[in-house]
Amino acid sequence: MIEIRGLTKRFGDRAVLDGIDLDIGRGEIIVVIGPSGTGKSTLLRCLNFLEKPDAGTILVGDLTVDAARATKDEILRLRRCTAFVFQNYALFANKTALQNIAEGLIVVKKMAKAEAHAKAQAILERIGLGDRGDSYPAALSGGQQQRVGIGRAMALEAALILFDEPTSSLDPEWVDEVLDLMRQLARAHQTMLVVTHEMQFARDVADRVIFMDEGRIVEQGPPSELFFRPGDERTRSFLRKVL
Ligand code: ADP
Ligand code: MG
Repeated sequence: MIEIRGLTKRFGDRAVLDGIDLDIGRGEIIVVIGPSGTGKSTLLRCLNFLEKPDAGTILVGDLTVDAARATKDEILRLRRCTAFVFQNYALFANKTALQNIAEGLIVVKKMAKAEAHAKAQAILERIGLGDRGDSYPAALSGGQQQRVGIGRAMALEAALILFDEPTSSLDPEWVDEVLDLMRQLARAHQTMLVVTHEMQFARDVADRVIFMDEGRIVEQGPPSELFFRPGDERTRSFLRKVL
């Protein structure tokens, strides 16, 4: 369903993404792991054009984007089918939970305001915050804020949701409720590409785990293989530190 070919991003003369090839099947849950500074966030950001890739192609459904010559219209279409969940939630502080979820529907999907608000309310119910629509982010716990962040991505009904360390900013007490919501999405066969250090989540939920190092995919496989029989010394060394 999603084909990524030769995705490359340079900062200065350094290739932070060095020709990533990746196919993602419909409903597949992929977890990306790897050392800090290895290009995991850049990969996700390039897929959503939060960062403009220097080269490569991204194919999602019937949309093919050649990164080097992507048009504004193609980038907007790509953003409609790839939603992003940020480590620091990135909610609008001056908008309520309901407005935060509705905003993407109005701006990205061009939905009428009343329709967007009705849909946002339905999403709030699904994420267990049906009675908190009028709350501003500052009045919500970290876990609730990140659930709104995920709700915002859910509302877009994107082909792919990109999660960049969605629990790394949370106090430990809020991590489980966010992971539970992600498990709920996984059970609903939402296609997900997740950067996380939550190895138990990866083992339980991922169809495939990808180990990245220095801008490249070093190896990948089902968690039962990658975690227990890694083939590459770099993977073994990384796993010794995190498992
Ligand atoms: P990871 O998410 O795996 O920790 P990142 O994708 O954030 O890694 O970063 C990969 C490398 O790219 C790092 O060395 C980082 O310093 C560099 N980098 C990321 N964003 C920028 C930027 N906007 N400008 C310059 N260098 C960047
Ligand atoms: Mg990162």
